[in-house]
Amino acid sequence: MTSTPSAETCVGCGRPTRSGSALFSDRRYTRGEDGAPIFLCGDCNERAISHFGRQPTDRDMVQIAARGAGLGSVLGGPGAGAGPV
Ligand SMILES: [Zn+2]
Repeated sequence: MTSTPSAETCVGCGRPTRSGSALFSDRRYTRGEDGAPIFLCGDCNERAISHFGRQPTDRDMVQIAARGAGLGSVLGGPGAGAGPV
């Protein structure tokens, strides 16, 4: 069974974005293909914008989540995570 953190952690940095946390107001939220909730905090959203050159879409967030915590693997630059785009 996959664990779903109740802290609503950001997929980029792992910090909690739940209601009442410092990151809550700026977080983005979507759901993955399996219905699992995906959260992205404002800081990581900014990093994603500079990486993608635009506001990350829900699909982008799903991709970030799929590659695991740590935007570094996604935003590390060419060659950091070679794969289908
Ligand atoms: Zn984050």
